[in-house]
Amino acid sequence: MANTEKMDISKTIVEETKKSPIKKKKKSKKKRSKRCFQCNKKVGMFGFTCKCGKLFCSVHRYASEHGCTYDYRKEHQEKIKLNNPDANFNKVNEI
Ligand SMILES: [Zn+2]
Ligand SMILES: [Zn+2]
Repeated sequence: MANTEKMDISKTIVEETKKSPIKKKKKSKKKRSKRCFQCNKKVGMFGFTCKCGKLFCSVHRYASEHGCTYDYRKEHQEKIKLNNPDANFNKVNEI
């Protein structure tokens, strides 16, 4: 009688071990983890999107740190034009 009991126990153990190994699927899709365009460091929620459209970490967010392609000079000049287009003329008249 005792032998049959042992048999049952061993059977259940085998069944459990068969179930346990979980097949891990290989990641076929790339994770959408946000990374710095310059140093490839994970930035997560603390990423900074530059005016050139790229994402950077706190170090490389500055235009000078990632060789920004955005034309800040042009933007600056256009802003001046929009704010006071007659600035140059006024100065000339005053003098
Ligand atoms: Zn970076
Ligand atoms: Zn930039």
